[in-house]
Amino acid sequence: HHHQNNSTNLYPAKSSPPAANNAITPPKKSPKDFIFGKYIGEGSFSTVYLAVDVNTKREYAIKVCEKRLILREHKQEYIRREREVMHTLTNVPGFVNLSCTFQDARSLYFVMTYAKNGDLLPYINKVGSFDIDSTRHYAAELVLACEQMHRRNIVHRDLKPENILLDEDMHTLIADFGSVKILSAEEKAQAQEFLLSGGIDLAKKARCQSGGSMRSDDDDYNDDDEDYESTGSSGSCGDAETGGETDSPRARRHQAPAPRYHRKRRGSFVGTAQYVSPEVLQNAPITPAADLWALGCIIYQMMSGLPPFRGSNDYVIFKEIIACNLDFPQGFDKDAEDLVKKLLKLNPAERLGAQDTSGQYDSIRSHPFFKNVDFEAVRQTTPPAIS
Ligand code: ATP
Repeated sequence: HHHQNNSTNLYPAKSSPPAANNAITPPKKSPKDFIFGKYIGEGSFSTVYLAVDVNTKREYAIKVCEKRLILREHKQEYIRREREVMHTLTNVPGFVNLSCTFQDARSLYFVMTYAKNGDLLPYINKVGSFDIDSTRHYAAELVLACEQMHRRNIVHRDLKPENILLDEDMHTLIADFGSVKILSAEEKAQAQEFLLSGGIDLAKKARCQSGGSMRSDDDDYNDDDEDYESTGSSGSCGDAETGGETDSPRARRHQAPAPRYHRKRRGSFVGTAQYVSPEVLQNAPITPAADLWALGCIIYQMMSGLPPFRGSNDYVIFKEIIACNLDFPQGFDKDAEDLVKKLLKLNPAERLGAQDTSGQYDSIRSHPFFKNVDFEAVRQTTPPAIS
């Protein structure tokens, strides 16, 4: 049965490479060039293995994506984008390198840097919570990673401890670009204008919607649906009595009894409830500030051991998020608390850093929590031992 898609090329060439270049292009690798070793983990469409290049003896993590699953769920575009972003961020400090890709009849292969120390989550869980030096260090690395992505108009949209991998020196490598949004020049300009002009009052929007239309599309991050015009109505709550936006066909389309963000079953991309930004839930414009929200969640989690918005199911978590129901356990460092509060603003435009335009998050870097942090040196110095 699996012969069905044998000839499917999921990477249709945009244009043939000029023949003259062929001489200097290294030959395309194939699965035969690697010895596949231990299973590392799996995602919705993929399984990751440790592998060794038979020629160089170098270790890699190879992500094997099953074409059958990708096609069945129509996720070709996601995979293409993931590959494009990994390629863009290759050799950028703080990101998993994509060393090559190839395919056979059955699968697509992404050959990546092997992050020897796994992801950040088990470290947080093991020690309960990080001490302030570790939190500060890892938070600083995340700020740098956000700068690198956002400068390139890449919004990750699924930053969370599980997607923060650790290399052999315990420096972070951001992974999992299955949910990225790449902003076009026009979208980038719109996003910037949106943020600089004050954004949107999502608390008000939530009241207008009376919680009725948190988005819950089948497509977790319904890209082609994000329109900046829709924010024009944000100033008015006048139609609240009539049900407001829930009456429009658009809103109705987004209405469903319970959002299903976190679907474990194979065959769909998973956005994780705890770190989802309110604008994603409320169908407001997606800007780089969505990652700043996640940054706030992750700093909170490193400090306290748990993500800030919790609940027994995703629906409860989503309600906590759109109410921005934050509470800080006793002993939470005051500077960290202030920083988290400034990042976890419902209105994306109000988040610390959202209005920075220099390509560097100067307003985050200069927050008292990062006092004495030399951001240029953070990735060059040995991280504090996690405790
Ligand atoms: P989804 O596809 O649903 O978003 P995912 O991102 O977890 O899920 P994969 O990218 O296939 O799926 O990753 C599967 C597992 O492999 C994860 O647990 C991840 O930590 C691990 N992993 C991924 N890339 C690497 C890497 N370069 N080095 C080490 N481990 C990795």
